[in-house]
Amino acid sequence: MRWRDLLALALWGVGCASAFAEEEKAFLFSPISEAPEWRLLENYQGTITQAQFEEKLKRIYDPTGALRKYLQMDEGGVELFRDVAKTEPLFRLRWARPDAKPVSPTGAFFLPDPQRPLLGRVICLDPGHIGGDWADVEERTFRIGRDRPVVEGELNLKTCRRLAERLTNAGAKVVWTHDGFAPTTNLRPADLYPEAIQYFLQDPVSRRQAGYSMNNLIRWNAELLFYRSAEIQARARRVNEELHPDFTLCLHYNAAPWGRAGRASLTSVSRLVVFTHGSYTASELVYDDQKFHLLRKLLENSSGEEVDLAAAVAKEFKEKWGFRAEDYSGSGYASPSGVSPYVWHRNLIANRLFSGPVVFVEGPYMNDRMTYGWIQAGEYEGTRLIGGKERQNIFQEYADRVAEGLIERFRSLPGRSSAFTNYSP
Ligand SMILES: [Zn+2]
Repeated sequence: MRWRDLLALALWGVGCASAFAEEEKAFLFSPISEAPEWRLLENYQGTITQAQFEEKLKRIYDPTGALRKYLQMDEGGVELFRDVAKTEPLFRLRWARPDAKPVSPTGAFFLPDPQRPLLGRVICLDPGHIGGDWADVEERTFRIGRDRPVVEGELNLKTCRRLAERLTNAGAKVVWTHDGFAPTTNLRPADLYPEAIQYFLQDPVSRRQAGYSMNNLIRWNAELLFYRSAEIQARARRVNEELHPDFTLCLHYNAAPWGRAGRASLTSVSRLVVFTHGSYTASELVYDDQKFHLLRKLLENSSGEEVDLAAAVAKEFKEKWGFRAEDYSGSGYASPSGVSPYVWHRNLIANRLFSGPVVFVEGPYMNDRMTYGWIQAGEYEGTRLIGGKERQNIFQEYADRVAEGLIERFRSLPGRSSAFTNYSP
């Protein structure tokens, strides 16, 4: 694991429950996150029964039961508290009556057109990372010898452009969180030094990393806050306030853990995973904003649609590519969806902050030998023999896997617009 990843874990608490004490009053929001607007949840009053609420927590959002310590349920509703002593209430949700009819759907109900099964759908593409001049700062690039550098942000964008073409041909309207190599946020790392310094001042002893100067740690933190937190927040504002898609696809290429001291080296393994939202950890749920987003996503009711879409893409991955599924058993930060071994619930910044269903697709490992050669071969026409098989260029194949999964899913189902009730209260 690289030092930057260690720092990221410390910052975001991903898979690193010991990074924070469970009760840390001084720091109730994730770094530079926006303060929760609890009033936004008022529209959901009386829309869910206690049984439905508890079932969703257990199955999707809180499989370890970490949120329970902050909840007090009674027959009228549930009170969410900031603290486990339950002295500082944040929000109270009233139950729907057990015999209440489900909330009437607000989304249109589509019958698929067999020629253009995505007709009427607005699909948002979110190519992962920024790339371009920011690829080094993001640490999403590597180079082996004199080969062409592999820059994940560029691979994601190339794939998404081909995917957009397929989806548009199938009738969808495609919108983008960003389409190019410029950041969506107006902030830059230099703007985020105060937040980076503040973070260290809160706990300077444990947040130091041996062997790194304080100056460097603060700079790296400011960069992390820029490309992860500020950038994704800016994209989320675009999705939630301007684009209002039916669903969003975050598209990435993955990488196997790097070998010695973070030096680029190739492996011979590739696995695939599709993330849907859920599986909050105890260390995340210390924060008010994480509790807020858990409730918001749960009440928004987009999980069913997310899982359906993810499973359709996963089916294509399995049938056409056959790479094995990623296995996060015992990771503590991802839990199985139960619908496909490729689909896992995980709380990521993008699928937490974007409203509506979000399918987060991780493509093949860029540092797998076969995939690496496939990437190096570029955007060739027709097919070539790659890894013992005639294959189209990797961008086209990845785009086709995702597009065909989605198209097939809408061809065979009239859609679940009715399940996804209202994501912009
Ligand atoms: Zn990525």
